[in-house]
Amino acid sequence: MMIPCPHCGERSHSEFTYGVDATLRRPIDPEVASDDEWYDYLYLRANPCGMHRELWHHTLGCAQWIEVERDTLTHQIRRATAVGRGAGGQ
Ligand SMILES: [Zn+2]
Repeated sequence: MMIPCPHCGERSHSEFTYGVDATLRRPIDPEVASDDEWYDYLYLRANPCGMHRELWHHTLGCAQWIEVERDTLTHQIRRATAVGRGAGGQ
C-alpha cells in the first residue's frame, strides 16, 4: 500500500505508523464526562468496512501526522491531508 504524504509525496506504508481513528472525539467537557463516555472514547472502536478516516504518523519520513481517508476493504486511499501539531491521537 502506498500512502501519499502531503509533505513527502507517495511512500510505502512501511514508512508509516497507524495512529488512531480520525473520527474519535474526546469528551467535550472532560470534568463532567461520565465513566461510560470515557470508556467509549478510550476503548470502543468501530470496525468499518469501506471508507474510513485515520491518523497516520510518517515515522520514517517527515515525522508529521497526516489524516488518511482509506477504504478498509481495498486499501484504496482517496486522500491524505496534513494535520496540525498535536492532532495525533486527539
Ligand atoms: Zn511525510
